[in-house]
Formats: sequence, C-alpha cells, structure tokens
Amino acid sequence: MPSGDAQRVWFPELIGTLKSSWSESMTWGELADLCSRLTEEREELRRSRGIRPPLIRCPKCGAESRSDISGLSIRSALFALRKAGVFTEADLKHHDLDWKKYQASHHLDPYGKKIPASRGADRSGSAKLRCIEVGCPGVPARSEAHK
Ligand SMILES: [Zn+2]
Repeated sequence: MPSGDAQRVWFPELIGTLKSSWSESMTWGELADLCSRLTEEREELRRSRGIRPPLIRCPKCGAESRSDISGLSIRSALFALRKAGVFTEADLKHHDLDWKKYQASHHLDPYGKKIPASRGADRSGSAKLRCIEVGCPGVPARSEAHK
C-alpha cells in the first residue's frame, strides 16, 4: 500500500465522481449532498482496500483512535475541482469566496450542514470528532499529518 493512502482525502475515483456530478448550476445544498455521498464512498473505498483511517490523537488525554469520521468539506471539493482541472485558479477564487459568503449568511458548517442553534446535541450528522475516552471533552487531531 502506498504510504499516505490513509491520509488521502480525495481518491481518484472520488474526483471522478465529483467531476462528473459537478455542474455550474449546482446549488450549495446539492454540493453538500454530493460531498456527503462522496464521504460514504470514501469509506467504502477504504474498507474494500483495507486502508485504515488515519490515526488521531486526543490533545487532552493522549488517547489514540482510528475513528476518522471527518467528512469531505465543501472547500476541499472546490480545491479538488481545481486540481482536477475543472476550475481555473480564477474559478476557484470566485467559488471559494462565494461559498464563504453563503456559509456565513446561512450559518453552515464546513460540510454545508446547518449548525444547530442549540449546542451540545449535535447528532444531526455533524462531523465533529470526539475523544474515545469516556468523559473526555477533547477533540482529537490527526497525528500522522507531519510524516
Ligand atoms: Zn481525550
């Protein structure tokens, strides 16, 4: 297995799906749906190839886990489209700025989902990573990023 596959966010297959699904008339909501479909597809790809999610470590208690549930964000999709040659640098800048404005005015998370008004009960598909240790409030970070 080539090193870095665990860290790989966009597999070539995902970029293929993204490219064929993307259209200029797509709404941000549609792109958000596409991103969550692609996130599931990524899990399938990892499973079928025996690639474990990247190791993450909790900065508070040091617990390590491989429960990577972070999804593919709207921004990362925009950058992937640039990398795939669908966007020019100018397109990317334009859409990125557009997204930031839309995200801010609609109170959306990086995945295009509405941020719940009531904090605490984030069972609504929010991709916040929580520490595996019971009672630990830590939010683990990827620990293999600087390899
Ligand atoms: Zn912890």
